[in-house]
Amino acid sequence: MDLKKRLEQRFLKYSAIPSQSDPSNETIPSSIGQWEMARTLADDLKELDVQDIEIGETGVVYGRLPARLSPGHKPVPVVGWCCHMDTVDVHLSPEVHAQIIRSYPGGDILQNEEKQIYIREEDHPELRDYIGQDIIVSDGTSVLGADNKAAVSNVMVALEILKEDPEIEHGEIFIAFVPDEETGLRGSKTMDFSKFPVDFAYTIDCCEEGEVVYQTFNAGEAVLTIRGVPAHPMSSKNNLVNPCMVAVDYINLFDRAEMPEHTEDTEGYLWVTDIFSDSLDAKVMIDIRDHDLKKYNAKKEFLKKAMEITQLKHPKAQLSLEMKDIYGNIYDALNDDNKVCIDYLYKALEELGIKPKTKAMRGGTDGSFISTKGIPTPNYFTGALNFHSSAEFLPMNAFENSCLVTLKLMELIAKN
Ligand SMILES: [Zn+2]
Repeated sequence: MDLKKRLEQRFLKYSAIPSQSDPSNETIPSSIGQWEMARTLADDLKELDVQDIEIGETGVVYGRLPARLSPGHKPVPVVGWCCHMDTVDVHLSPEVHAQIIRSYPGGDILQNEEKQIYIREEDHPELRDYIGQDIIVSDGTSVLGADNKAAVSNVMVALEILKEDPEIEHGEIFIAFVPDEETGLRGSKTMDFSKFPVDFAYTIDCCEEGEVVYQTFNAGEAVLTIRGVPAHPMSSKNNLVNPCMVAVDYINLFDRAEMPEHTEDTEGYLWVTDIFSDSLDAKVMIDIRDHDLKKYNAKKEFLKKAMEITQLKHPKAQLSLEMKDIYGNIYDALNDDNKVCIDYLYKALEELGIKPKTKAMRGGTDGSFISTKGIPTPNYFTGALNFHSSAEFLPMNAFENSCLVTLKLMELIAKN
């Protein structure tokens, strides 16, 4: 069976399992469907000679493929692949009905006759790059979920190819399928890294053919808690400390030029995401993001300083600041010994004749968390476009190329 056919079949199978994550549920996994995905994948891995298959308490599926190298072969790096099993909740249906448009002729794509849902060429001129190709789309009531089931299918098909062709040499390979990426990398944060003891890893979780990401934000969140002093208007003068106004004074210290509405590319920001307040208490929630670790830490320092300044202005208010780191920049996990994971990726693209499109991501992937464990985990393309929307589509040629990158990486790493 050719590669495209295999990918197509796997994708249709996995996308039909509804595994949307639920950001309002704090349990991991946050939805029943992710357990079903986990069980299905664990069963499928058994057919592919993968060993030590295990579903962890939070639904993470682990597996290990032993190395297959000629006798006397020098040791090669141990590599992992991590893919997420959930699809995103953007208030669309959790049920995905994928359909294949054969030899897309151009123009609008009718996704749903009954509901008259289209992907309009006018709104999505990127469609024009795929005229004449097979394209997978949803029925318009859901995302397609190529994010990240294209990756899951990609890895499974690559393992299938390795099993069928004993001529292909490869090093030891670890697999982790994780739940709840879309709800804040919550699944990968519960990974047991003793079951993923790799030198480096890859995610396949970005879009267009050629995309490579090894720079993500350092991300954290801060909560400023303010307790004011309430008073009746008869005696409020010189007594009342209004927590709403303390919050305003705090936020007014921020540099407007360093907010998301004024930043792009590798410029970091502080994003005031929520303010809650009544006459006694206020809370200010802030997202902290920067690609540069020094600047990220400086932003955290600034938030403390701003609190001290606000405190001086309102000595009777009680202020406290809590900050926590959420994930890091993949780039910061790279060192002389492991940066080879990036070299392999570019070499794979070069050998396959795929033009690299390197991007600094204004966000994070599972790799951004895994990298904080000292395992650099760059990210490459699935081939799909318009993630997180009903117009998400997966062109088969790019999907195939994404799988070829996986196979090429396995080959190059074995050659070392
Ligand atoms: Zn994803």
